[in-house]
Amino acid sequence: MNESGQLERLYQVQQLDLTLDQLREQEGETSSELREARAQQERINNDLEDTEITLENVEKQVRRLELDVGTTNEQIARNKAEQDKNATNPKMQSQYENVIQQLQERVSEYEESLAPYYEQQSALSERAKALRAEHRALRPRLGELEDADTARIQGLRDQGQGTRDERKELAKDLDSRLLKEYEMIRKSKKGIGIVPFEGGRCTGCNVMLPTNVQQRAALGKLPGVRCPSCGRFLFKPS
Ligand SMILES: [Zn+2]
Repeated sequence: MNESGQLERLYQVQQLDLTLDQLREQEGETSSELREARAQQERINNDLEDTEITLENVEKQVRRLELDVGTTNEQIARNKAEQDKNATNPKMQSQYENVIQQLQERVSEYEESLAPYYEQQSALSERAKALRAEHRALRPRLGELEDADTARIQGLRDQGQGTRDERKELAKDLDSRLLKEYEMIRKSKKGIGIVPFEGGRCTGCNVMLPTNVQQRAALGKLPGVRCPSCGRFLFKPS
């Protein structure tokens, strides 16, 4: 292959690269249905997590207060036993009576504090249960959509296989330095590393090329001539 054929061929390689770029881009285009289902699942998960954290805190308060009730009831029982032991001493009777009354008041206070926590606890448990059910209900549909998406991506990859093979075959005989340089330009120039020039203009950036650049580029020799403005390889279509 002569040197000008190299650039022409590199341009064909680029056509295939652009097709492959497009296929890769399509891989990321998940259906709006799947995106919504994923978002919905995430919302449910976040909501469930928040609910469970709040529930945990409420349950901690409940346990603390129930423990207080238990301890205070034990104190009451002990005082009652002491009171019984001293049944004959009226002064001590009234002292125990006072202590027991105070302790009973304390129990009532604890129980009053517990009531709203119990309500919260049951509401939060219900909420968590509902969210778990919602999550379960969504799962089969989401699974179907995920499977369909995996198949869609696989389809695009299969579709690209022929193009990849063709590219490999075409690139085989290309100058390796030319190819490497082309790939570097492509990365920084929106996927376009080589452009034809027409009417003295670079079709990559539309700048008017200096005559000496046009002349050198028209020869199509290696190393390839690059546009002084956008840096892409230039070639003259045959
Ligand atoms: Zn240019």
